[in-house]
Amino acid sequence: MPDRILRAMDMPVQDHRGPGFGELGMSAVEGMKSIFKTAGPVVIYPSSGTGAWEAALVNVLSPGDKCVMVETGHFASLWAHLARKFELQPEVIETDWRRGADPNLLEDRLRADSAHEIKAVCVVHNETSTGCTSRIADIRKAIDAADHPALLMVDTISGLASADFRFDEWGVDVAVSGSQKGLMLPPGLSFNAVSEKALEAAKTSTLAKSYWSWSEMIAANATGYFPYTPATNMLYGLIEAVAMLHEEGLENVFARHKRHGEATRRAVQAWGLEVQCQVEDEYSPVLTAVRVPDGHDADELRSVILKNFDMSLGNGLSKVQGKLFRIGHLGDFNDLMLAATLSGVEMGLDLADVPHQTGGVARALDYLKSTAGENPWMKV
Ligand SMILES: *Cc1c(COP(=O)(O)O)cnc(C)c1O
Repeated sequence: MPDRILRAMDMPVQDHRGPGFGELGMSAVEGMKSIFKTAGPVVIYPSSGTGAWEAALVNVLSPGDKCVMVETGHFASLWAHLARKFELQPEVIETDWRRGADPNLLEDRLRADSAHEIKAVCVVHNETSTGCTSRIADIRKAIDAADHPALLMVDTISGLASADFRFDEWGVDVAVSGSQKGLMLPPGLSFNAVSEKALEAAKTSTLAKSYWSWSEMIAANATGYFPYTPATNMLYGLIEAVAMLHEEGLENVFARHKRHGEATRRAVQAWGLEVQCQVEDEYSPVLTAVRVPDGHDADELRSVILKNFDMSLGNGLSKVQGKLFRIGHLGDFNDLMLAATLSGVEMGLDLADVPHQTGGVARALDYLKSTAGENPWMKV
């Protein structure tokens, strides 16, 4: 978290019904529209990302509705689990957790649904458990190619503001995000971006909703206010985060993340280890999941690195527990932070006796050095 965001939040708590609040609320909502790249409404909840997952489903669907979900990893499977609790009927397309959602499989599935029973296609943009992204624009094309009316719902909780995302241009109907990943904020805010088609669907949706109801939010937001108490000081931080992202330029932010992903993968390759994601077009710019060789425990390695270097790496979740560790390179992150991170991993691999070749850090530094001058955000 940048100090600049912390400082921005260090404010007296404003009366959220007071005369000055509308302006704050308006700029938070308008700022998020520019990050989602949408002209439509963005709803801001005082919740973690999971709340906005629930909101996406309950606002447009009705009990018994079918939706197609792609199990790209742990987070996708949790979203399907949530859908089942609401008596939706998610049909889950499984994967090996080493790639994003396959647009061709989705197209075939939708073509077979000539009665149009499937109401939504739900995919995770950046699967944080595996370091694989899904090609959202291609998934929209697949839905259109099948001439199917299903809504496209996208979890971009860890993708937004780190990986390219274009709500309107890509034809997304509902996007879900959260504050504590690419937006560089503490946990506590979540978001839905909503298309016109999704607003139409909301009119006939019969799942129970109150706290998550878009209609009350959107009505109050028209003047910058909220139907219930918003996370006031988080909004100050959010406005600052949006300002920082635009100062750097979103395209530069995305390029910086991609470059750090590439440098990380070069280190992994030099170590002789395997990246979890197997599809080049789907490598995550947000994080890299690294598999440890069979017979070795990634959690043991993580604990050695935590104890010796006070660096906490992401763990393997559910199906991949112990099999991989995750290097995050998102948000407020630069070349030297990445260099330190990779150094900690390389020393840890040695100390934990994980078979590997040395030289990963050197390989990453070579790449960072050779591409350093190309980066506009480094201009002084
Ligand atoms: C973090 C994350 C979530 C869960 O969000 P919470 O804020 O923990 O509720 C869901 N999906 C993805 C892809 C995530 O990265």
